[in-house]
Amino acid sequence: MVGKVTVRVPTETPVDDVVDAVSRLIRFDTTNTGDLETTKGEAECARWVAAQLEEAGYQVEYVESGAPGRGNVFARLEGADSARGALLIHGHLDVVPAEPAEWSVHPFSGAIEDGYVWGRGAVDMKDMVGMMLVTARQFRRAGVVPPRDLVFAFLADEENGGKYGSHWLVDNRPDLFDGVTEAVGEVGGFSLTVPRRDGGERRLYLIETAEKGLHWMRLTARGRPGHGSMTHDHNAVTWIAEAVARLGRHQFPLTLTDSVVEFLTAVGEETGYAFDTDAPDLEGTIDKLGPVARIIKATLRDTANPTMLKAGYKANVVPATAEAVVDCRVLPGRQAAFETEVDELIGPDVTREWITNLPSYETSFDGDLVEAMNAALRAADPDATTVPYMLSGGTDAKAFARLGIRCFGFIPLRLPADLDFASLFHGIDERVPVDALRFGTEVLTRFLTHC
Ligand SMILES: [Zn+2]
Repeated sequence: MVGKVTVRVPTETPVDDVVDAVSRLIRFDTTNTGDLETTKGEAECARWVAAQLEEAGYQVEYVESGAPGRGNVFARLEGADSARGALLIHGHLDVVPAEPAEWSVHPFSGAIEDGYVWGRGAVDMKDMVGMMLVTARQFRRAGVVPPRDLVFAFLADEENGGKYGSHWLVDNRPDLFDGVTEAVGEVGGFSLTVPRRDGGERRLYLIETAEKGLHWMRLTARGRPGHGSMTHDHNAVTWIAEAVARLGRHQFPLTLTDSVVEFLTAVGEETGYAFDTDAPDLEGTIDKLGPVARIIKATLRDTANPTMLKAGYKANVVPATAEAVVDCRVLPGRQAAFETEVDELIGPDVTREWITNLPSYETSFDGDLVEAMNAALRAADPDATTVPYMLSGGTDAKAFARLGIRCFGFIPLRLPADLDFASLFHGIDERVPVDALRFGTEVLTRFLTHC
């Protein structure tokens, strides 16, 4: 067993280099287990962020969202035209758990090696938190006046759906978002190098404009308990197993939403491959895009992946109930049809309930903010071409969309062509290139001074 690395970071030490900032943020273990009893919370990290912002001259608001230790930090920078809607720049401080024995370096070491910053949260999403922090500090110290008000938000509990973070803040402290009309956060802005049909490559930057719905479903079978040696035609374990197997193997119908069609059209134009939406092997063509295909293919249909099972306590006792949890991700406009399909699959002996039920989100890829993203990327990478895409997962954008805020995923990172970026999210040996952090900070600075 590898011991925990504890690195004391004095709060008074100013951090103005993005690589240092990301490394230090990773050293705060902000693991979110999804269970309040075993989650320490973001407070220590949040208070450090707050101290960094205060040191640069910000008036900071520290808020705990519904449970002790779930720290969030807000700072506003007044723009030239406060009558224009404010722009929210948000990042979450929590991370998913990491098992040190599985890693090449300790996941909370923030090691800087081989041109990467390593550790849990390096891409999800202390990379952006570090970029936000350094940029915000630099603006305040240099007296930068952005075109519109900027609201920097550092948030808790994104990794468990934002119940003790973004959603709590939207419900209980909507004043923190006063005047905010648009937002940028995860997951987008990263480069993706794709092959061209005529040979060569094209570097695209994917901007998130849509998210599937996030619906965690509990299935419960109630049977007749009894002795395991006797005949049982009301066995809850058998029923739940059948329902889970049917659901897990089921393929929901191909459904092409606007943002997915826009993504496939744009990528087709850039690569020369025809992403013919009527083609019998659309998914096969998408595989040519590399590892990111796992995300893109998940935006063509609803999905329902069984993730947890719970039943029984003794080998010779048939239990009265059996439970399963299924992670369902539903496309915009599909909720009712999805539920009908699920009910047919699970059958009459199994009941279902939503543990988490966050609807999908979709906006268009146009307007001044999109132009500002394009221009900022092109200034740093003249070959940059941006394309909109739908994320198969969910982010804090779902909470802000409830306030009518238009949300985009924009964390600018220019990545090596051969890096399997998608697998680093919640993955082992999560790491972010040092060059990408510097690139991202340059792009973010330009973007926020032209937004
Ligand atoms: Zn994240």
